[in-house]
Amino acid sequence: MFGTLKFIPKNLPAVSLVFIGRELEMDRNPQDAAQSPRPKVGRFSQAVNLHYPLRENNIYKNPWETWQDHGLTTMMSFLKIAATEMHKTGVPRNIDELNKVLPVFRPDFEPNPDGRPKVTWIGHATVVLQMDGITVLTDPIFSDRCSPVQFVGNKRYRPPACGIDALPAIDAVVISHNHYDHLDLGSVRQLNARFGEKLRWYVPEGTAQWMRGNGCENVVEMNWWDENILPGTDVTFAFTPSQHWCKRTAFDYCKQLWGSWCVISPKHRFFFGGDTGYCVGFKEIGDVYGPFDISAIPIGAYEPRWFMKFAHVNPEEAVKIHIDIKSRKSLGIHWGTFILTTEYFMDPPEKLKEALEAAQLSNNDFCTVCHGKAVSSDDPANTS
Ligand code: ZN
Ligand code: ZN
Repeated sequence: MFGTLKFIPKNLPAVSLVFIGRELEMDRNPQDAAQSPRPKVGRFSQAVNLHYPLRENNIYKNPWETWQDHGLTTMMSFLKIAATEMHKTGVPRNIDELNKVLPVFRPDFEPNPDGRPKVTWIGHATVVLQMDGITVLTDPIFSDRCSPVQFVGNKRYRPPACGIDALPAIDAVVISHNHYDHLDLGSVRQLNARFGEKLRWYVPEGTAQWMRGNGCENVVEMNWWDENILPGTDVTFAFTPSQHWCKRTAFDYCKQLWGSWCVISPKHRFFFGGDTGYCVGFKEIGDVYGPFDISAIPIGAYEPRWFMKFAHVNPEEAVKIHIDIKSRKSLGIHWGTFILTTEYFMDPPEKLKEALEAAQLSNNDFCTVCHGKAVSSDDPANTS
């Protein structure tokens, strides 16, 4: 996939990185590669020290100093804690109580008439973005469980705000990485059945083969800083960094890439953080593609910190991302749906408020909404 350029030095000047990016595209399967000619909308000439993923023996690696791989011993310690401390999450067993704290609303998919970005939270990292006449779905998971199989595994405690049949017509899906809570086979199949080849799947490098194997025809896989224009529109999709990892089976550790996405029309910009730890990549994204009118940034699944901090931001770090990428308004995602970690289930929005206060920001800058509710750019935050 990288052709002859297997390792890319971290600190090349931006101009060289643009050049390398173009070289890489030329090596690709034309269906995977970004279309050409395609002007870069990113401000690459202003940015320095852009990072690319490292790759060794077919395994992608984070280029960040803030990343650390967990060894087997650490992993075992976490699994032990996960088994004994999940009660700390405090998710009510009583459905009425749960409905009171975390009600799920039926979404209203009426787009803003002026094309202003509107982001509706379906649950977890799944949002519907409606912006300048296009509709984009992020990391769709509509299944009951984020698991290799649907009869056992992590079961959602809040249903998706709507089913796939109730979604508006989707033009594109962006996938941040292949973990089961972000790339769900059942949802891929259902979306495929409903939209077929009209739906364009934007996926990280190494993921297209899996998508095609599961029936997706219109697949574009990208490396960090690649751009692709959605056919028939003037909207650019750019794949950007994150600090994370990939795995679906015992044999595929980090064989596929991970990242975040920017959706850029001539009038508006949207950022999707996916799943990530904190790293300097977000400042780079802010330099190249910021400011963003609206963003979806993960705020949940962060405890215990000693284990989770490398792959998942806490609300404080989510606010740092909001600032780094120059987001004008952000929505907290990746919480309130699955029990993945040990923090109290309502801590992510609570701690977000504290972090915002500490950063002298408010919930008008960065908010959470109930499942099914939406937030638009330049609108007061709707936390009802
Ligand atoms: Zn993940
Ligand atoms: Zn996740």
